[in-house]
Amino acid sequence: MSQPLRYHSTRGAAPAVPISQAIAAGLAPDGGLYVPEALPSIDPAAFDPRGPLADTAATLLAPFFAGDPLADDLKVICAEAFTFDAPLRALAAHPATPMLELFHGPTSAFKDFGARFLAASLRRLPRLDARPLTILVATSGDTGAAVAAAFHRQADVRVVILYPDGLVSPRQAHQLGCFGDNVSALRVAGRFDDCQRMVKAALGDGSLQARLPLSSANSISLGRLLPQMSYYAHAALGWWREHGTPLNFIVPTGNLGNALACLWVRKLGLPVGEVRLACNANATLPDYFAGADYAPREAVATLANAMDVGAPSNFERLRWTFPDENHLRDLLQAHSVDDAAIRDTVASHAREHGEVFCPHTATAMHQLDRLRQAGDRSPWAVVATAHPAKFESVVEPLIGHPLAVPPALAAMLARPAHAEPLPANDAALRTWLSSH
Ligand SMILES: *Cc1c(COP(=O)(O)O)cnc(C)c1O
Repeated sequence: MSQPLRYHSTRGAAPAVPISQAIAAGLAPDGGLYVPEALPSIDPAAFDPRGPLADTAATLLAPFFAGDPLADDLKVICAEAFTFDAPLRALAAHPATPMLELFHGPTSAFKDFGARFLAASLRRLPRLDARPLTILVATSGDTGAAVAAAFHRQADVRVVILYPDGLVSPRQAHQLGCFGDNVSALRVAGRFDDCQRMVKAALGDGSLQARLPLSSANSISLGRLLPQMSYYAHAALGWWREHGTPLNFIVPTGNLGNALACLWVRKLGLPVGEVRLACNANATLPDYFAGADYAPREAVATLANAMDVGAPSNFERLRWTFPDENHLRDLLQAHSVDDAAIRDTVASHAREHGEVFCPHTATAMHQLDRLRQAGDRSPWAVVATAHPAKFESVVEPLIGHPLAVPPALAAMLARPAHAEPLPANDAALRTWLSSH
């Protein structure tokens, strides 16, 4: 057996732990994010060319789990998590440019991959504590539903979702509140960054943790980040076998979890080419890559609400991955796409090509349109992070007709929904948790 890979904190002040412990903890005890001691390298020839996505995931993740108690279950975990595909579909607008569709899971956004993998992993970890585990999740819209769906009705686990009241789409809000049972939805009078800060504060509160075992399910959890590498590896390997070239990706970006997974796949030695970050009007990353100092800030509300992040939590992992700042700035580009351009992209593609995208996907499509206009001919995959029907209040007025709703989403919309209001401060969450 190979040497077990251990995980340490981006802040360097927490002991190194095996992967299952890093997954169980979410955040490292020093407030940092867990990262592997070093990223392994993987030979593209190790993958079965005919295998489904779940097989690619198991092969890809094996070195990350080597020597861990979860290693023996990794195949089963992948089979349980990856029950739907992430197809590369050709686009009408730009021939030879595929779209990587990540919205075929139960809640119609890419978050289903990570949430289901995390749930399948946590289910198999021995719990030392007999009390139920409370999973806190701050969501800008899509994470909460994916995590709730993944843990719904699981014994010994309760899920508490915090989302910014009024800043998610009507269908997202309904989805978040429709679970009931072991899932509570809290609508916070603030922004996503408030929700994220409140969750971090609760997780870092030793006296609260002593009374109430807490974990997180945000994209800071390695249990979500690592599986997100799978669809990039699967798509890039498939493309490379067929075309003999690496595939570039344009990734709609908020907290930087999805794009970082793509960058890690390239670091492992798999045929991922360039990676571009598509952001909305929240320009923390675009400003940084344009040369400014890193300056996290308050988020502003946009049409691509799941990307309304002013302080991307995975930035610490990005800096760990590429410690040389000049190298990092050479390597990556990030562009900001405002609401007017999002609207225009959704409307023009529907009108001219009959293809409809969600507002997040539109930020990446906008970048692709500009690359093609500038004469770029290289193979880019546009990453489609959610189904447009989840954002009907934005998309339908732009395209002038109703969208068909995927069956899983329709079933959730048919259930009643309930969310409790909560003020946007750390003490309010602590009080709520202590009294429920
Ligand atoms: C979460 C989300 C994003 C942003 O992904 P990050 O990993 O936070 O960068 C983009 N699009 C959709 C639809 C999302 O739900």
